[in-house]
Amino acid sequence: QVGDRVSWTIMASCGHCYYCNKNLPQKCESLKKYGHAAHNDPELKSGLVGGYGEYVYILPGTTLFKIPDVLSDEVAAPANCALSTVVNAVDTIGVERGDNVLIQGAGLLGLNAVALAREAGAKQVISTDVVDSRLQMAKRFGATETVNMKTVPFEQMKEEILEATERRGIDVVIEVSGVKDVTRQAVELLRIGGRYLISGLVTPGSMLDIDGHQVTRKYLTIKGIHNYRPDHLGQAIKFLEKYHSKYPFDELVGITFPLTEINEAMQESATGRFIRVGVKPN
Ligand SMILES: [Zn+2]
Repeated sequence: QVGDRVSWTIMASCGHCYYCNKNLPQKCESLKKYGHAAHNDPELKSGLVGGYGEYVYILPGTTLFKIPDVLSDEVAAPANCALSTVVNAVDTIGVERGDNVLIQGAGLLGLNAVALAREAGAKQVISTDVVDSRLQMAKRFGATETVNMKTVPFEQMKEEILEATERRGIDVVIEVSGVKDVTRQAVELLRIGGRYLISGLVTPGSMLDIDGHQVTRKYLTIKGIHNYRPDHLGQAIKFLEKYHSKYPFDELVGITFPLTEINEAMQESATGRFIRVGVKPN
């Protein structure tokens, strides 16, 4: 109703095509994505399909969720699409109670992934990145161990992981770094029967340098995901409602600008001082 705060799926799907019927509405054959189309795209019937406006045209086939009162705008905004995407990642690869999980990358997706893995019952959650400040944040999001891949040699890290896992290796690795070279390390660190989820390699030409021999001999499972289903956004909002005060979700959007200062917001975002910069359309 009027006055409700809502979040909605990044995409609108038709609900009856081949991929919608395969439970992949994010890959709908007539998919429309907010913020991904030209404002004069005739199929959209409106130019108001981006985020930087006071109004937005909600396309048919979009799923909306009401934001609970306990969540501030700044905490709720990154649920779509960062948290929803990693909800999909964890849901797709599966994290079981007692698993040792490695999260490759400690940007916004990585931080969310650490908290999700932790609350899924993971025993150890190891976060890797090349920036110390991100790794410090990962600790606050529940990482039991952090490794700066720039300063710690891989062989040393591998030995420490083997020592910590009765020399078996990692149960689950989730890649959210966007760096293709980390896939080789994941394949090497996974235990027999280990599971690997790749979600950050969105650039064409991300050829992988992995040892297929290890994939075969170790019975590895490797999966990919891209974006998320409507129910993942619903789960993301529920997760925030439950854990918003346990982890520092209120520090992810570090500063918020009014829409009239959109250029300043862009400049601030480019400095990288804050994990995310907010824009409020009022
Ligand atoms: Zn469809």
